[in-house]
Amino acid sequence: MPPISTSDSPATAGGVTGLFGGTFDPVHLGHLRLAEEAADRLGLSEVRWIPAGQPTHRETPSVNAQNRLAMVQLAIARNPRFTLDATEVASAQPSYTVPTLRRLRQEASGTGERPLVLLLGADAFAGLPDWRDWTDLFALAHIAIAHRPGFPIEPGNLPPALAEVFRARYRASPEVLREAPAGHIVSFAMTQLDISATQIRTLLRNARSARYLLPDAVIDYIRREHLYCKE
Ligand code: ATP
Repeated sequence: MPPISTSDSPATAGGVTGLFGGTFDPVHLGHLRLAEEAADRLGLSEVRWIPAGQPTHRETPSVNAQNRLAMVQLAIARNPRFTLDATEVASAQPSYTVPTLRRLRQEASGTGERPLVLLLGADAFAGLPDWRDWTDLFALAHIAIAHRPGFPIEPGNLPPALAEVFRARYRASPEVLREAPAGHIVSFAMTQLDISATQIRTLLRNARSARYLLPDAVIDYIRREHLYCKE
C-alpha cells in the first residue's frame, strides 16, 4: 500500500510533482492512465492523488469519502510514482482546490520553489470558472490538461474568461513546467479511454459487469462493501 500523506509529510524533494484531484467515485482506468501517462510525458517524479472529501462544485458523491479513499489506495498500491493524500478526506470542511494548493506550496517551501502541476481532464478544465478563487490557481501551480473523448481543448469551447487565461498562459512544450514553479498551462495526449465513473455507477446499479473498466481489486472492494447497489 502506498503511504498516505498528511499535511505534515513533505512530498518527494526535487523534480516536478503532479497533483491529481477528483471524486474518484469510483476510481477507474481512465484516471490511472491519465496519471501514468502524465508522469511519463511531463516527466513527473511523483503523482499525488487527492480524493475530494466533500466537493462543492458538483453533486454529492454516491459513496462516502472513506470508501472512495480506500478504492484509490487499492488502485495505486503497486505504483512507486503514485502517492495518496488523505487531507481533503480527513477534513470536516468542504474541499476547495486553492486552499489545498496553498497547503502543498507551504509543504514544498523546504525544497525551494518546486514546480507543482495540477492534472485535469479536459472536461474538468472547461469547468474551472465554477471553482472558488480559480484565478488564484496560477500563482500556486501549473495546469496540465489531458485530452478526453468528447472534450476538445480549444479556446472556442471554453467560457470566455477561461479562454482568455488559456490564450495567455498556454505553452506547447511541457519543458516550461520546469522553468517556473507555477503559472503555465500545457496539454498532453493520453490513450483515449471513454470511461467515466458515471458509466460505471450505472452498470453496477443495473447489476451489469464493470470488469476491465477499473482494477479488479477495486471491483472486489465494491462487492465486499456492497457499494453502488440498487437502492
Ligand atoms: P463522473 O462520471 O462521476 O463525473 P469522472 O469519471 O469524470 O466522474 P472524476 O473523479 O470526476 O471522474 O475525475 C477526476 C479527474 O479525472 C478529472 O480531471 C477528469 O477530467 C479526469 N478524468 C476522468 N475520467 C477520464 C478519462 N476517461 N479520460 C481523461 N480524463 C479523465
